[in-house]
Amino acid sequence: MISFVMFLLGLCVGSFLNVAIFRIHEGESVVRGRSKCQSCEEPISPRDLVPVFSYLILKGRCRRCQSILSWQYPVVELVTGVLFLLAFQKHGLSLIFVRDAVFVSYLIIIFVYDLRHMLIIDRFTIPAMIFAVIVNLWLGIIPAWSILVGGLVLAAFFWIQFLISKGTWVGGGDIRMGALMGFMLGLEHGLVALFLAYVMGAIVGVGLLATGKANRKTPIPFGTFLTTATVMMLFVGEGLIRWYLSLF
Ligand SMILES: [Zn+2]
Repeated sequence: MISFVMFLLGLCVGSFLNVAIFRIHEGESVVRGRSKCQSCEEPISPRDLVPVFSYLILKGRCRRCQSILSWQYPVVELVTGVLFLLAFQKHGLSLIFVRDAVFVSYLIIIFVYDLRHMLIIDRFTIPAMIFAVIVNLWLGIIPAWSILVGGLVLAAFFWIQFLISKGTWVGGGDIRMGALMGFMLGLEHGLVALFLAYVMGAIVGVGLLATGKANRKTPIPFGTFLTTATVMMLFVGEGLIRWYLSLF
């Protein structure tokens, strides 16, 4: 029962993340004003704002003008709901659950924003970093040195690439994202997450090249891999490391 409530909570948070992504990009207030259809500008009525269900009932179209609604809305809601549910089943109603729910929300918002706009913006990474350092130091599950050194080492990893390439390989957003990963996961898990992100990036990159969906010059939003790897380490990090070590 509580699991289901956590799933619903996740759906609603996902719905809020969608609004935040859109409005921050448009430079609007996240909390004020009603949501409008992006085609006909008709304000959306509350009955059409129910996460996932409204999208299904409307068959993915605006009630008034029938323009197609982005699949981003239900997908973000569902993924947030499922991750909240998993975090609750893993940790129960605890501070770690709250931490993971906040981490996941930030990571999803960074993922979608990077996918849509090819940018990792400070507006998300900086507050997430502050939260991660405070909550992790407070919880004390990860040693304090590991949290701080993790953030510094992962940021330095991108910063060195930034210096060598004069900002053409990675952007400033990647440096902040590296710091965030280290602060969220600590040094050891942070490094594994970095490795995972490069493995996933290589697999997807080769797949896109092979299917002709991209060429060598196509920019890849690498933040999507960094955030996905961070979520994976949060949920199955221990298991992944054990599995990897058992291979040798
Ligand atoms: Zn419309």
